Amino acid sequence: MNLEMIYTELIMEHSKNPDNKRHLEEKSHHEHGHNPSCGDDIELELNIQQDIIKDASFVGSGCAISMASTSMMIDLIKGETVEIAHEKVKDFLALIKSEKTEDDLYDQLGDATLLSNIRHMPARVKCAVLAWHTLDELIKKEF
Ligand code: ZN
Repeated sequence: MNLEMIYTELIMEHSKNPDNKRHLEEKSHHEHGHNPSCGDDIELELNIQQDIIKDASFVGSGCAISMASTSMMIDLIKGETVEIAHEKVKDFLALIKSEKTEDDLYDQLGDATLLSNIRHMPARVKCAVLAWHTLDELIKKEF
């Protein structure tokens, strides 16, 4: 898969979920994430009740990869327990680091496994992992 195709796929994926980019009316947690090497800047918003992520969204701006990756992550964690969401975060980071494969993780991560192609573009890895690191920070701090 070439770079242009990856971008196209990512932008398409993101454009399918424009409702992930908004403020939550009710939120229990939020966390800021910034990637200075590209300028990606996001604020994750979560509504967590009894350890279940009832709703999640983000606001901010950045490149297509960071925006699409954030949107994909939100789709994956909505309705899950904090524990399962944290497992998915760890799996995604392991995938990007090549510690696990797309086949290992397709059931858990679905289309987000597509982002593993980012490994071949080291400069963009920080864009792809921004949201996941941000959620990881939040969970480690609050749970
Ligand atoms: Zn970026």
